[in-house]
Amino acid sequence: MITEKKGRITKLLFLSILLSFINITLFADIQVEFRNSKEKAYIKTVKIDNIEYFAVGELQKVFKAKHIAEDRLENKLSVSIYNETISILLNSSYASFKGVSHNFQYDCFYRNNTWYLPIHFLKNTLPTLFPSKIRFNTNNTISADSVTDNRIKVIVLDPGHGGKDPGATGKISKEKDITLDMAFILKNKLEKELDGVQVLLTRSKDEFVSLQNRTKFANNQQAHLFISIHCNAALSKSIKGIETFFLSTANTTESRAVEALENSVVMDYEGGQEAVKNYDDLQMILADMHQSEQLEESSNLALRIQSSLMEKSSTIDRGVKQAGFYVLRGAFMPSVLVELGFITNVDEEKKLLNKDYQNKLADSIVEGVKSFKQKYD
Ligand SMILES: [Zn+2]
Repeated sequence: MITEKKGRITKLLFLSILLSFINITLFADIQVEFRNSKEKAYIKTVKIDNIEYFAVGELQKVFKAKHIAEDRLENKLSVSIYNETISILLNSSYASFKGVSHNFQYDCFYRNNTWYLPIHFLKNTLPTLFPSKIRFNTNNTISADSVTDNRIKVIVLDPGHGGKDPGATGKISKEKDITLDMAFILKNKLEKELDGVQVLLTRSKDEFVSLQNRTKFANNQQAHLFISIHCNAALSKSIKGIETFFLSTANTTESRAVEALENSVVMDYEGGQEAVKNYDDLQMILADMHQSEQLEESSNLALRIQSSLMEKSSTIDRGVKQAGFYVLRGAFMPSVLVELGFITNVDEEKKLLNKDYQNKLADSIVEGVKSFKQKYD
């Protein structure tokens, strides 16, 4: 009796081990073909409980994902492909990308020291996130853009204000005119100094462009950097100096004041309270995991530009600050806002209108961008 039971248990044990082997078997690999290249890659897939999965590390191998970082504290896995970050909520079937959630059907899970994602992520999610770059074909292959080049190649300059919105006004000039002049000078210098870099402007004449459309433009152009150019204003005519901002919720009263000034365009020229509400919905983007990762690069870019500006301008260093500018909120690339000086200070207004001084400021910004580019390229 006892030996027979033992035998049955052994058989059952053997059977269940066999079954578990059958449950996790290797499945057909997915071939990835790169456009404009003979290069090919394969994504290994495994079938678990009849659902096909792949290890997240395959993305690193195939798409040269810049980094795959697991953050247990925030319960997410970040994967950077084509310079964009996808945040995957651990143990769920959700990914967040540019503030939008995407469902990939089956929960991702952790096994044998790696995270597994369902193949739905390759077939549907990636082609949805990168419609112009990744396509899943009917013959179970993927066509994708080559992914080797991570360099900064497109920079969007944003001359503040314009058209019906003059920005701050000085004794003899308007902010909107100085910012446009500066943008043109800066564009020429950047394109001359940085090989192969294309510089685009959110406006190239005296016209009104809503704050939302400025960042939308940068996103559509898939810009790698966004630099918004402004002049400052203060009630006290003695106040002067340069300051550079990067995005966050404003953390000091002073930053809030500049933030209010630059954001007032929404109240004044973009449809008042209703428009403000729309922009505040953009706060959700701020909360999105994606943008927080750009904060570090934005603050680094701001630091480099500000310190470079201080070397040549001999005005007061008002430092690098954080503020919640609407114009920076929707941008999905490192973004900064530079306040080149106070138009309300008679001396500084004169300097801001001086061609030599404008060139000096532009040279400094180029230096800042150059050193940033050297670090991150
Ligand atoms: Zn401004």
